[in-house]
Amino acid sequence: MSEVIFGPVNSRRFGKSLGIDLSPALKQCNFDCVYCELKGAKPVNKMQEIVSVQKVIDSLKSALIKHNDIDVITLTANGEPTLYPYLDELVREINKIKQNYKLLILSNGASIVDVNIQKTLANIDIVKLSLDCASAKCFKKIDRPYNDINIDNIIDSMKKFSKYYKGSLIIEVLVVEGINDKDEEFEKLNLVLNDIKPIRVDISTIDRPPAYKVKQVSMERLEELSYKIKSLCVSVAYRKDYKGIKNSFNKDEILNLISKRPQSIDDINMSFDDETKVRFKKILEEKKIVENKIAGIRFYTTAE
Ligand code: SF4
Repeated sequence: MSEVIFGPVNSRRFGKSLGIDLSPALKQCNFDCVYCELKGAKPVNKMQEIVSVQKVIDSLKSALIKHNDIDVITLTANGEPTLYPYLDELVREINKIKQNYKLLILSNGASIVDVNIQKTLANIDIVKLSLDCASAKCFKKIDRPYNDINIDNIIDSMKKFSKYYKGSLIIEVLVVEGINDKDEEFEKLNLVLNDIKPIRVDISTIDRPPAYKVKQVSMERLEELSYKIKSLCVSVAYRKDYKGIKNSFNKDEILNLISKRPQSIDDINMSFDDETKVRFKKILEEKKIVENKIAGIRFYTTAE
């Protein structure tokens, strides 16, 4: 059987992460997303190949002895980690041995409709769920879910979960050209996301060869779409070589921009020209804006 533990890998959004792969031997997922980095596969609603909790815990214990400078332990899978049938027991066991590291899960969000899964996720420090579309047609086209998985139920359950969950809820949107890159889709997403109220929204596009013939959107379009999401902290995954369009803003314009939507350190580096950065620094020193770290990423908001 392939390795259950992988990494650590440096992730820009979560820091140094030690990964746990709950489906190391094959892809087991309830979606068959067009953009998946794994090969396309028929979606399933159950895992067939299951690693024992003992094996995961033993492997994690050994890895934690070797790697004592990580930020997060990440539950993931070649597929969907919430399909793992012993997830609740596993999370309880990991919480006993994880020391001060945060536990993170990367899920496609479909299982959130199950209240038992919600209870399990409530014991995880950082929960990252995907939500690529708010409308049924778009959802089916991009995520190609198992049978009767319904986006309206997922959205309702995300709203309910967000109300009582005490950890850091992050929603990720992956944008694919010609599917969820329309203004209308992002306007719908904006309304839904503002109801769910995650602490951060991560927006990205395809950056590895996808399972099906689909394309990424340009960085300019990704940035443009990200501004359709109002009020929330939005982290855009800019390509490393993307220089951005530099703008000049006066003091009032900077404050106005930040009052509409918190700006991440990447937004500032990407879209402020040098003089605007100096003005921004001065406003920060005057304490008219404040810096907050949201699950590992620096954001700036207007002071209360
Ligand atoms: S949810 Fe993740 S693993 Fe499953 S098909 Fe989509 S991208 Fe692939």
